Amino acid sequence: MPSDVRNVIIVGSGPAGLAAGIYAARANLKPLCFEGFNAGGLIPGGQLMFTTDVENYPGFPDKVTGPELMKRFRDQAEHQGTELVTVDVTKVDLSHPPFKVWTADSSEPVLGKTIIIATGARANYLGLPSEDKLKNKGVSACAVCDGALFRGEPVAVVGGGDTAMEEATYLSGLCSGVTLIHRRDEFRASKAMQQRVLSNPKIRVLFSHEVRDVRDVEEDRVTAVVVEDKRTRKTATLPVSALFIAIGHTPMSELFAGQVELHPNGYIRTVPGTTQTSVPGVFACGDVQDWVYRQAVTAAGTGCMAALEAERYLSLHAGH
Ligand code: NAP
Repeated sequence: MPSDVRNVIIVGSGPAGLAAGIYAARANLKPLCFEGFNAGGLIPGGQLMFTTDVENYPGFPDKVTGPELMKRFRDQAEHQGTELVTVDVTKVDLSHPPFKVWTADSSEPVLGKTIIIATGARANYLGLPSEDKLKNKGVSACAVCDGALFRGEPVAVVGGGDTAMEEATYLSGLCSGVTLIHRRDEFRASKAMQQRVLSNPKIRVLFSHEVRDVRDVEEDRVTAVVVEDKRTRKTATLPVSALFIAIGHTPMSELFAGQVELHPNGYIRTVPGTTQTSVPGVFACGDVQDWVYRQAVTAAGTGCMAALEAERYLSLHAGH
């Protein structure tokens, strides 16, 4: 192998990528982390850069903002010896080691003995202008993150899958009432999760309804959602303090499609209980391989696993 091959190249700089950096650096692997620039609408630090208060990351009893938490992750990764480069990865070749990684600022690839994919996922939104303006001001894609900010207040959830059921059920324990808005007349979610919602007296379901507008951009906070009944075309205004969007996430796995195995839903397939992808030496951690938990703390945990597995792989295969 050429001498300029990096031991570990990390793609992505959310909690997973930076935790991988911390662990790989401490194992003296001198990791290189491409933290991204704005690939897929995300920025260095990932989804937490778009959140306000984080109250569930262990170790921060007085809460911390998403950007402050990610600054700490980044400072720690850098301090331990991770080389961070602010550029988007544009192409990879994982057909054989050394693996090749191209970035937006160079025509020459960087070579790596191992790759840690930590590109995350982005929440899907409805695409309404008012929804966009009120993001983090009552519009949220994470009830576990933001639900407690609306304790005792009425809220709405949009979606009909398992996530929407889970978000509505979770919020029913905190909020005065939950209106679940779904565009069809039946849920996509598993029967058990549907049942939990339908038997919950604090959740009201509006089937065959679509959200047409979120109010009130002028007030800079959510005060109501306007919904339309698709059967009658009638609109109604529901007073709520928050709208939780639960219409799915999109994993940022496009770069790797055709090179590592993906699940049918686009998430990267890993060997259960590990971060090993279908390509030996290529590991995936965080939300790009996890559509169930999707928490900063679980992403950081799998980032740690990826670094430890990369180290083990290097000591067995690459004579590190
Ligand atoms: P999902 O299953 O893809 O469901 C997305 C829901 O959002 C669907 O009901 C869809 O409506 C609706 N939707 C999509 N685009 C919309 C739009 N533009 N406007 C209005 N509604 C829209 O996504 P998910 O619920 O996030 O679940 C993702 C995966 O994770 C699934 O495999 C799920 O089983 C799994 N999951 C499992 C658990 C668990 O087991 N504890 C928890 C969460 C998620 P339609 O139904 O009309 O298409």
